[in-house]
Formats: sequence, C-alpha cells, structure tokens
Amino acid sequence: MTYTHTAYLEDGSIAATLADLARAHRILELEGHGDMSMGHLSYRDPFGRGLWLKRGNLALSEVEQDDFILIDFDGAVLEGTGLRHLEWPLHAEIMKARPDVNFVGHSHAHFSTVLGASEEPLKPYNNHGVWFAYEGVPRFTQTSHIITTVPLGVAAAQHIGAAQALLLANHGIAFVGSTVAEVTLTGIFLEKAARFQVDLRASGFAPIEPDPEETKEKFDRIYPAKAQHNFWTYFNRRLDRVEALQGIGISQISLPPGV
Ligand SMILES: [Zn+2]
Repeated sequence: MTYTHTAYLEDGSIAATLADLARAHRILELEGHGDMSMGHLSYRDPFGRGLWLKRGNLALSEVEQDDFILIDFDGAVLEGTGLRHLEWPLHAEIMKARPDVNFVGHSHAHFSTVLGASEEPLKPYNNHGVWFAYEGVPRFTQTSHIITTVPLGVAAAQHIGAAQALLLANHGIAFVGSTVAEVTLTGIFLEKAARFQVDLRASGFAPIEPDPEETKEKFDRIYPAKAQHNFWTYFNRRLDRVEALQGIGISQISLPPGV
C-alpha cells in the first residue's frame, strides 16, 4: 500500500509530543468525539517502557500536556498521577501488534458509533471516506462491552489488522497513526465520513458506488504528506481561535439552524 508512515524520533522530546497529543484530544472534542470524560489517546514511549495514556476523569476538551500517565504493556503505572482508564488494554495490545503505530485513539464519536452499531460498511462516498481506501474500516463484533481485559484487547488488535481504524460495535471506535497528526486526522475523517454516510442513507437518495481502484488513486492524490501536514496545522489554528475565545475545556456547542 502507499500509505506511508514516518519513523518516530527516539530523540524527540516526550513533553513536546505530549503537548501535541493534548491538543489532539481538544481538537477531537471540537470534531464530535467528546463523550463526558470518556475517550483517550496514547503515545508509544520512545524508550520502550510502554505507553503514555491520557489520565481518567477528564473530558477530551480538558486535556493538557501534564494529563498523561506512563504505563507498561501490562498496565502497571510507571509515571504520573491520576486514574488509569479502564480500557488501557485496547491501547497496549494494538501497540504490541502494530510496530508501525505510535499513537492509538479511542472515542465514542457519535456518527461513527451509529455506523458501528449497524451492519453497514464504511464506504468512500466522500473525500473523508477515501482516507480509508486501502484497508477499509473493520468492525469488531465480539462484544459490545468496553475493552477492559487483555484478551479483548488482543482480539480488537487482531480485528484492526493493518487498518487505520476499527468500529467497535455498539460502543465506539479505535484509530491509530504513526504520528500525532495522522492519528488525529484518522479520527476526524472517520467521524466526518460516517456522518456523511448516515446523512446519505437517511436522504433516501440512491448512492453512487465509487470504483475501488479509483478511490485508491484519489487517496494518493488528495492525501500526500504535505496535505496531511496542512490539515493538521489547520485544525491547530482552529483550536487556537476557539480557545482564545472560550478557553480550554468547553466543547463545541452546536445550535439548531436559525438559532
Ligand atoms: Zn469506550
């Protein structure tokens, strides 16, 4: 596949990466991923100790760079204070199974969860869906529970395979990336694609099914590394503007049309 990953930098500053990862949480809240204090992203420790996971009892919109704990791949807390999210095995097992993945995300994004609660496969009906052209988005139906045990984490990791995202039936989604920009865009594009597909199905219009080979060529055309960087910086500028107005911690409030 032509979906390329950049090598992670062993000499990169963990603090700087966690600051970016904190911003990723807040960007994702603005993009429809918020669900009270649920949802979390993690970063593979560049020194092989385990993973840095957002601590518990915080909304995505509230995460700052100190809000992470370092856990090993068995879940033992090595550094940091605060609650360890129950779903740590989802992160640990995906990272163990996928050496190319440095970041794992999990959320209950609304439209992605609607799609995941159905038998409808995610389709590349719009540009956001094209992000998943090569591997698609598998669905994990073994349980509707949250992923709190190592065997469930292993099973979820097997189901995501080489894909960038996984629908967790009747629960939420998992999404991955080699960089913080990539994991963030994957989460955003999955939710946008799912929303488009839900709207398209709800419209009653007959969908046009895009050609799979053309869809892969389209991915190569519209999502080169330069474009991914541009989109990441766009979402950061947008976050800065929103937080300049209302500070950190307030999620986007969508009002009905006309209000
Ligand atoms: Zn969950």
